[in-house]
Amino acid sequence: MSDRVNRNYFCRTCGNLVTFVKDGGGKLICCGHEMEIKKEGFGGEE
Ligand SMILES: [Zn+2]
Repeated sequence: MSDRVNRNYFCRTCGNLVTFVKDGGGKLICCGHEMEIKKEGFGGEE
């Protein structure tokens, strides 16, 4: 299983937050750049 599955990704520009449920091999792009992995899981502790 890919280590991307079940990770959260976010966009610094607009704040979109995405949970990866299946790794199809592509990149997550938002606002013209690759989304960043969010190390912590759910919890909304920001
Ligand atoms: Zn964005």
